[in-house]
Amino acid sequence: MTRDDRRGGWRLMREVSTTNRRWITIGVIAALAWTAAKITIPLLALEAINQGVDPYDGPTLLRICLAILAVTVVTGACTFLRRYSAFQISLRAEAELRRRLFDHLQRLHFGYHDRAEIGELMARVSTDAKQVQMLLVFIPVGGANFVMILGVAVVLFVLNSTLAAWSLVALPFLAIAGTRFSQRVHPVADDLQESLAEVSHVVEESVSGIRVVKGFGAEELQSGRLRTAAATVYRRGMELARLRALFNPLLETIPMLGLVAVLFVGGRQVIDGNLSVAALIAFNSYVLLLVFPLRMTSFLVAQLARASASASRVHEILATETEVSDRPDAVTLPGGAGEIRFEGVTFGYLPDVPVLRDLDLVIRPGESVAIVGPTSSGKSTVARLVPRFYDVESGRVLIDGVDVRDVELASLRDAVSMVFEETFLFSDSVRANIAFADEDAPEHAVERAARLAGCQDFVAALPDGYDTLLGEHGYSLSGGQRQRVAIARAIVADPRILILDDATSSVDPTKEHEIRDALGEVMRGRTTIIIAHRPATIALADRVVLLDGGRVGAEGTHDELLRTSARYREVLAEAEALAEATTAVGSVPEPEASS
Ligand code: ADP
Ligand code: MG
Repeated sequence: MTRDDRRGGWRLMREVSTTNRRWITIGVIAALAWTAAKITIPLLALEAINQGVDPYDGPTLLRICLAILAVTVVTGACTFLRRYSAFQISLRAEAELRRRLFDHLQRLHFGYHDRAEIGELMARVSTDAKQVQMLLVFIPVGGANFVMILGVAVVLFVLNSTLAAWSLVALPFLAIAGTRFSQRVHPVADDLQESLAEVSHVVEESVSGIRVVKGFGAEELQSGRLRTAAATVYRRGMELARLRALFNPLLETIPMLGLVAVLFVGGRQVIDGNLSVAALIAFNSYVLLLVFPLRMTSFLVAQLARASASASRVHEILATETEVSDRPDAVTLPGGAGEIRFEGVTFGYLPDVPVLRDLDLVIRPGESVAIVGPTSSGKSTVARLVPRFYDVESGRVLIDGVDVRDVELASLRDAVSMVFEETFLFSDSVRANIAFADEDAPEHAVERAARLAGCQDFVAALPDGYDTLLGEHGYSLSGGQRQRVAIARAIVADPRILILDDATSSVDPTKEHEIRDALGEVMRGRTTIIIAHRPATIALADRVVLLDGGRVGAEGTHDELLRTSARYREVLAEAEALAEATTAVGSVPEPEASS
């Protein structure tokens, strides 16, 4: 990992965590108020003894006790706000990170990345986004605790500098031991997680590919793999237990040293008449107050390293192709009915190899248009230019009259949803995958979308229904099932413009009519671009555009083109032959690819 990646990783973390300034402000204020309140309490207790108990002054004692209660209430309120804002910030950051990766992966050319590679990438990406989330959620608490360490140290030195020095002497060792502990434990815990996943992977593979395993006499091989994986789990689990057993006594003993030092040195001062008992008690409270923040800080230091590595990895992925970015004066995409307009668009991935040549195309609001064309004619490219995955070389792409380069990407991509042949599912629950565009989507909206997309039956058959984990470390769905999840995802997103790029191709032809109903449902009331080969799917569209040689070769309804365009008939026949060939290959009993 280069230094650039690391720097990029930090920048990325900063970018995704500062999207929500309001919550950051609330979190910081709450954290500082919490710290101040926490530090005040032992001081108030000291006052209660000095001004209330010692001089036998009942009313003063009561007043101070009430003050302590009030401060405690403040602490509670601040804890709530601090935690709440921390989750707001970190979960949103995680979502933003995933979203960027998702957008990025949608841009990739599938010819260059095979499916397994993308599956692996997705799994890693989910873990990495989680690591960053784990760090961010602790930043407000960690920051507050750090300020607390400083604040308490200052108070201690003001109260009694000798005693302060004695009480603090053991604590740096606690920080060091804590950091070492986290650093040693984290990788082992990750490895354990990984080998657990490997076990379930082998089991699942053996079960879902049972025919193949038996057919090729691979039982011995599979059970050997399982034995190895299980042995690894045992070894790593023991390693983890050993580390915990080693460090825990150390982490518990060190703070005691500080307390014993305070008791001994402070006790002597009390005996000599140099310190009041109340001050000694206050001192003890402060030393105890330090234990948690110190452990927290060491945890945070270790997590910082992990999250930074994760963020760098994500950055590395994002940086594989230069991304389009917001112009400084970008505006939110204004509301509209979803008109798409390509004006003289020329575009290619490589210099001097144009894929689209001076393409003009208008799709009216609410209209559904099928784009048909030979393989590699640029159908997917047209689709990718609408949400601005790439910038055109010349000409313009307009949505509701606004050039896509003039609007904020986030608002553009909220307005445009895509469903692909290859569907990315995150290593997360079915529910989370469907609610991807809107994590706050209510239960019934998710289930309605699933029903419309025809997911209901197979989801009901999953071990945990909507909570079943998918992906590399979870359950793998068939190609057709994945596509239905993707369609459900698009329904939840409720976009102005929907793009279906070969979205039904891996659906079993006997099931295709179900999907077609679902598609009809999603397409209603929104502008839709549908890229398809099967005539029945193409016929769903109001209008068909034949893409040929980088421009529009012919357009009209499916029936019109069948009658009038020889080229159209030719392209359809070719596509049909191709589809048949793929279906024939698909009927060989293959184990389900897991991704
Ligand atoms: P279609 O969807 O009609 O099959 P595409 O739009 O995917 O065609 O691709 C059009 C042409 O652009 C093809 O020759 C393809 O190889 C090329 N291409 C597509 N994506 C990329 C990419 N990311 N990098 C380089 N070339 C690409
Ligand atoms: Mg394509």
